Amino acid sequence: MSRTEPSRRLQAIPPYMFAELARRVAEKRAAGVDVISLGVGDPDRPTYPHIVTALNEAVAEPATHKYPSHRGRPEFREAVARFYRRRFGVEIDPEREVMPAIGAKECIYNLCFAFLDPGDVALSSDPGYPVYTGGPLLAGAGVEPLPLLPELGFSPDLDAIDPAALDRSRLMFINYPNNPTGAVVPEGFFERVVALALDHDLLVVHDNAYSEITFDGYVAPSFLATPGAREVGVEVFSLSKGFNMTGWRCAAILGNADAIDTYWRLKTNVDSGLFEAVQLAGAAALDGPVGPLEEMNAIYARRRDLVVSTLAEIGVEVSPPRGTIYIWAPVPDGYTSAGFAELVLEEAAVVVSPGSMYGAGGEGFFRISLTTPDDRLSEALERMRERLGG
Ligand SMILES: *Cc1c(COP(=O)(O)O)cnc(C)c1O
Repeated sequence: MSRTEPSRRLQAIPPYMFAELARRVAEKRAAGVDVISLGVGDPDRPTYPHIVTALNEAVAEPATHKYPSHRGRPEFREAVARFYRRRFGVEIDPEREVMPAIGAKECIYNLCFAFLDPGDVALSSDPGYPVYTGGPLLAGAGVEPLPLLPELGFSPDLDAIDPAALDRSRLMFINYPNNPTGAVVPEGFFERVVALALDHDLLVVHDNAYSEITFDGYVAPSFLATPGAREVGVEVFSLSKGFNMTGWRCAAILGNADAIDTYWRLKTNVDSGLFEAVQLAGAAALDGPVGPLEEMNAIYARRRDLVVSTLAEIGVEVSPPRGTIYIWAPVPDGYTSAGFAELVLEEAAVVVSPGSMYGAGGEGFFRISLTTPDDRLSEALERMRERLGG
């Protein structure tokens, strides 16, 4: 074996589906083509000013410069608890039922190492955020995909899970409002998940990355508001998307106190906690005004409507999503996800994400992100209408 051979666990991660497309994009840009990417889900607007001010103040305070505790500053834990009470009607004990995470990605990955052994299985939404599959594989465990079915509002059929896989399952990853499908949680789904978790000793991980990005009056619930959820699960709440804070790495895990203890125990071996100045800025975000979030949602809603109407003009029908920063659309007849993404790149010099990037269950779809500035988004849609239209 060569000196630099990756571990078998790393080699088990499916090759980055986007690699070929990324290579073509780089080629085009090198040749002087103005490629517009609608691929990445990363808010284009800056973090809200009151949060930046709070960071500036916190970072000037030398007490924040030391190693943080893994448990986090009381100010952060209490702000998360206040936010959960106000926003979701969920009572959280700031001592035992919440701690900071260095982004949801870190948290999801480390939960795999905290709870999975070789031979265990994670039940992972498919299509889904790639760490739901990469995390378990890197931890030496297996993945049982849970296909998200359009006819069930992009939720999995819990009765269809292979019983043998269910027996070996320890974790279950779900996410609503959902990336990449834009779906909101179907009526009764969280309740059915709690029942399944009680029957099969599963720890449910609800990835709450988009609850603050919703439209048309829809208000997204917390999984933890479901009766029994705290017994069987945790919720990972990220400030990244809702507060335009992707670069800050600020999130929290909430819910089952024993699960959070185990996550804490793992993290004491892995990292040294979340920078305290970021925790204080995160607290300011959660305690801060909702006006900026509402303005941001109005911008996303306007972009959403523009994308949906343009897609209709090129023969792609989608109903406007009630949450997230994504439009999830079926590819036209005769195309694979990758094939259609290539066509859009070749014809319009626009990047859309092939649905298959998010798992086998995403084949047949493509994703457009709403995080491109208005003028560039309009230009991209204009090109798609001209070059792909009737
Ligand atoms: C963007 C995203 C994340 C990453 O959140 P961070 O807190 O920035 O790590 C996690 N889950 C989903 C579903 C996402 O879309």
